[in-house]
Amino acid sequence: MSAEIPFPPPHLQEPYLLTPGPLTTAYEVKAAMLRDWGSWDGDFRAMTRDLRTGILALLGPGGGEYECVPMQGSGSYLVEAMIGTLLPRDGKLLVLANGAYGLRAAETTRRIGRSVTVLDKGDYLPPRGAEVAQIVGGDPDITHVLAIHCETSSGILNPVEEIAEAVAAAGRKLLIDSMSAFGALPLDPAEIPYEAFVSSANKCIEGVPGFGFLVTRRDALQGAAGRAHSLSLDAHAQWAYMEKTGQWRFTPPTHVVAAFLEALKMHKAEGGVAGRGARYARNRDLLVAGMRALGFETLLPDRWLSPIITTFFCPADPAFDFARFYEAMKARGFILYPGKLTAVESFRIGCIGRIDATVMRAVVEAARVTLAEMRVASAAPPQAALDERSLADTL
Ligand SMILES: *Cc1c(COP(=O)(O)O)cnc(C)c1O
Repeated sequence: MSAEIPFPPPHLQEPYLLTPGPLTTAYEVKAAMLRDWGSWDGDFRAMTRDLRTGILALLGPGGGEYECVPMQGSGSYLVEAMIGTLLPRDGKLLVLANGAYGLRAAETTRRIGRSVTVLDKGDYLPPRGAEVAQIVGGDPDITHVLAIHCETSSGILNPVEEIAEAVAAAGRKLLIDSMSAFGALPLDPAEIPYEAFVSSANKCIEGVPGFGFLVTRRDALQGAAGRAHSLSLDAHAQWAYMEKTGQWRFTPPTHVVAAFLEALKMHKAEGGVAGRGARYARNRDLLVAGMRALGFETLLPDRWLSPIITTFFCPADPAFDFARFYEAMKARGFILYPGKLTAVESFRIGCIGRIDATVMRAVVEAARVTLAEMRVASAAPPQAALDERSLADTL
């Protein structure tokens, strides 16, 4: 892989995006957008078909019962389409929240007028199988549970296996927001039983933004006609129309689909989900080791660190200023991501996109030079962060 990603990339006059999507894409992916497609034309219909089968092929042996429904919009549109289409109007959803995306899913459910209850674990504590079993055991009205696969706001990899087991054992249905995980982490329904999940073009498949996709059991979709609260976010209607005509209901993001097919090809060439996940894990390992060597501390202990994005505490040294750090890192070619913790200052560095070990080593070196330039003597976090950290260590 290292040999395939030149540094600095000759086609990039822009910084690397160390963000969880949009992210740095390959030249080939961008180049695939340099022609126009007619949305009704047979060539584009074939592309839509390849896109749907290409995504389902990533599920693994348990994928035969599933359908893929691509829809226009960003990831949040897909979360709303999934809930609105698959949660019955008289159903009740338990949302497992430990960050911004869980809370957004709960708010989405409220806004569309469906019944929802939330297990809110705060900024980063993982929802565990045993507590899910206890909550659904005590509330027979709960029909569905929604879990966030990787909660991108802290970077935690939530324990979807044990959650799926608890939900299945209680006879309820699991919906997964796998936005920032699908394509890099396995999601085979033969291993992890679920009703449906959603993801989007611009995360681990390394496409550009413009559409997302719902992957759902066929029987769940078949029973969902007329249920959605919204015309444009009705995943059943989108599916039925695509099955009948091969087309999207409304104007499709043609160039984005072309880019995505190229991205899928590169995903396959890298060794599929296992290959992609291995590169991201190596990116994370190099990043975390390098940043720790500079004195930085991660929010999460190693076993909860996803290979997607990592949260670091800001240093306590008064000479450190995140806005200045951000600008200096950008000038050196790297766009970082601000933190989302409520209690302490933090920032995040993504490990996904067309980046590799060489890039990650360069990020760490840029951080070292920037700290020296800012005259930050130590990157060690403040006491409040260390308190969070020791709480995280009990996970
Ligand atoms: C990116 C992401 C989303 C969708 O966010 P958009 O800004 O609407 O694309 C949802 N959930 C998770 C976990 C994400 O990482």
